[in-house]
Amino acid sequence: MLRKPKDILAIDIGGAKHSLALFHDGRLTRRETWPTDVEGGRPWMVDRLRTLGREWRQAEPPAACGIGFGGPVDFAAQRVGCSMHVGGWEDFPLSAALEEALGIPCRMDNDANLGALGEYTAGAGRGCRSLLYMTLSTGIGAGILMDGRILRGADSLAGELGHISLDPEGPVCSCGSRGCFEALCSGRAIEQRTGRPPAELLQDPAFRAGYIPTLARGLRAALLLLNPQRVVIGGGLSKAGETLFAELRAELCRQIPGSLPVRVDIQPAALGDDSVLWGAFALVAP
Ligand SMILES: [Zn+2]
Repeated sequence: MLRKPKDILAIDIGGAKHSLALFHDGRLTRRETWPTDVEGGRPWMVDRLRTLGREWRQAEPPAACGIGFGGPVDFAAQRVGCSMHVGGWEDFPLSAALEEALGIPCRMDNDANLGALGEYTAGAGRGCRSLLYMTLSTGIGAGILMDGRILRGADSLAGELGHISLDPEGPVCSCGSRGCFEALCSGRAIEQRTGRPPAELLQDPAFRAGYIPTLARGLRAALLLLNPQRVVIGGGLSKAGETLFAELRAELCRQIPGSLPVRVDIQPAALGDDSVLWGAFALVAP
């Protein structure tokens, strides 16, 4: 007799919100998102996930749980590095804590890595052997897939694209440096600078004329370093529509030297807000 496929639980922990999803037989069957209590920090979140995990449990518990965390993760040790947005996470063994709370095997990775994995397995990166996934949202992060594998680097810090410096005289970033890609182009940065919502600004051609060259400068560095087959951009700001993407591709073609013709294949995430959840599923799916 064939064994009935078990559910997989997927969790996406961000600075502003957190989401849960259930996958059954490779299909997303349930998902929900809630705001994160930033003041509550790590104890609140772990307690919250324990409660949700129990509420969501079907007759049979899920086979495993994949977790995307919005900050650096030491993948080998399965410990959180730190969260720049929410306190109390430093060196926390989140997978072990949730295994104990939920009673099922858990595995975690940085959310941008899982965004890359999600888009690679089920979204806009299907069929690509190398892929750069960039999240353009409150912050900026990136996940890199090379030959179908996540590139994590020696210290699980590969893909910290948001903290390459584009302007040494620029504004101070959450990491302490000046003029980081994130401090210039993230949703938080442009909202702080202008006092206007990023989604509204990106519909304004005058704003885009100043914004896109800087956005392209950050991506140009990644394209010349990695030469990915495709770049997939996710996160809230990636929903600005095809005009943004067309202008970004044109600007990149202008900025990239003709003597180094790296390809410019830039696509919006196909899984919308669910790239990380799909990646969390793929991380633990049998
Ligand atoms: Zn920075």
